[in-house]
Amino acid sequence: MADFTEDQLTQLKAAMQKRYIALQEEIRSELAHSNSGFDISLADNINNIPDDIDTALIDKQINEMRELEVSLKQFMELEFGDCIDCDGEIGFNRLMAYPSAQRCIQCQNQYEKTFPHESNPSL
Ligand SMILES: [Zn+2]
Repeated sequence: MADFTEDQLTQLKAAMQKRYIALQEEIRSELAHSNSGFDISLADNINNIPDDIDTALIDKQINEMRELEVSLKQFMELEFGDCIDCDGEIGFNRLMAYPSAQRCIQCQNQYEKTFPHESNPSL
């Protein structure tokens, strides 16, 4: 696990939770406009979203929520903050800006060059 201070860990956890709630709100308002009748607040988590919901509209948000869930899990298991590609530190500032980041900035740039049209790589 990357080397963070207690204070940084508190801030990072808050940033992840805040982002997660913000995404949930975005999805909720988008679904409210789509006549799907599905209320995400009734689901315990995003994996409970029924298959018959057209999620094209919210794929990006759902993808980011899944990444955040992974990050939160890593956080609990004290394996948080390391780049999945090079094992280097993602860095506190980058994680505060992008709490769902799984790669350091160098590997992310490389990844986007390699997969420029892949908008939802983990789905
Ligand atoms: Zn890296």
